Amino acid sequence: MIEMKNVSKWYGDFQVLTDCSTRIEKGEVVVVAGPSGSGKSTLIKTINALEPFQKGEIWVDGTAVHDPKTNLPKLRSRVGMVFQHFELFPHLSVTENLTVAQIKVLGRSKDEAHAHGLKYLERVGLLAHKDKFPGQLSGGQQQRVAIARALSMDPIVMLFDEPTSALDPEMVGEVLDVMVGLAQEGMTMMCVTHEMGFARKVSSRVIFMDVGGKILEDCPTQEFFGNPDARKDRTKDFLHKIL
Ligand code: ADP
Ligand code: MG
Repeated sequence: MIEMKNVSKWYGDFQVLTDCSTRIEKGEVVVVAGPSGSGKSTLIKTINALEPFQKGEIWVDGTAVHDPKTNLPKLRSRVGMVFQHFELFPHLSVTENLTVAQIKVLGRSKDEAHAHGLKYLERVGLLAHKDKFPGQLSGGQQQRVAIARALSMDPIVMLFDEPTSALDPEMVGEVLDVMVGLAQEGMTMMCVTHEMGFARKVSSRVIFMDVGGKILEDCPTQEFFGNPDARKDRTKDFLHKIL
């Protein structure tokens, strides 16, 4: 579903991604972990071309992200993205948040978009809040709306960038529950997260990044957590702090 080959990116002289390569199969859930500033956000944003890169290739379901001829709005409409700070439209109701891109980007009718959006809103347990505005919802509820909004576009892949990092602790669980459900239904997911419980429970692989945007480890989840001493020193330090 996603193939990344030797992707490198620089900001001036500073290399933010260094020769990153990985493959994510359909239905796989991959967690990206690593210290702050190691390029995790940049890496996942290259996949839907929110971050350009100077070297390497990325393929999403056969579409070449690196090809200047690729229709990027079309690609982005198929790759769902959920951010740390929700990024809902504050001046639109929950229902409007769920339908605007379906209508404008996918060309769905208002009724169709409505039906589709509300189906996902129900799925994240928030149908009763359909007429509210984002500011009237808790952080956890806003993030669930953001997930429903992404799902309303029928994405083939979902990218998550620290979706629970901005939430009060008591709201983390409700968002993770939605993500676990998605994973169990077979959605292809790439998740930047510090939630190692989630990683252990649903991911098949962990990618560990280090400063300079290097992928230090890309290994099966069981191996990653099960045998910390076999890992590289940087990963070992990280694992010893969290295990
Ligand atoms: P992470 O998500 O792992 O915390 P990021 O991908 O956000 O890391 O950032 C990786 C590095 O790139 C950081 O050192 C950050 O300061 C730097 N960086 C991010 N955006 C820019 C930018 N627009 N210009 C220059 N440096 C940037
Ligand atoms: Mg980040």
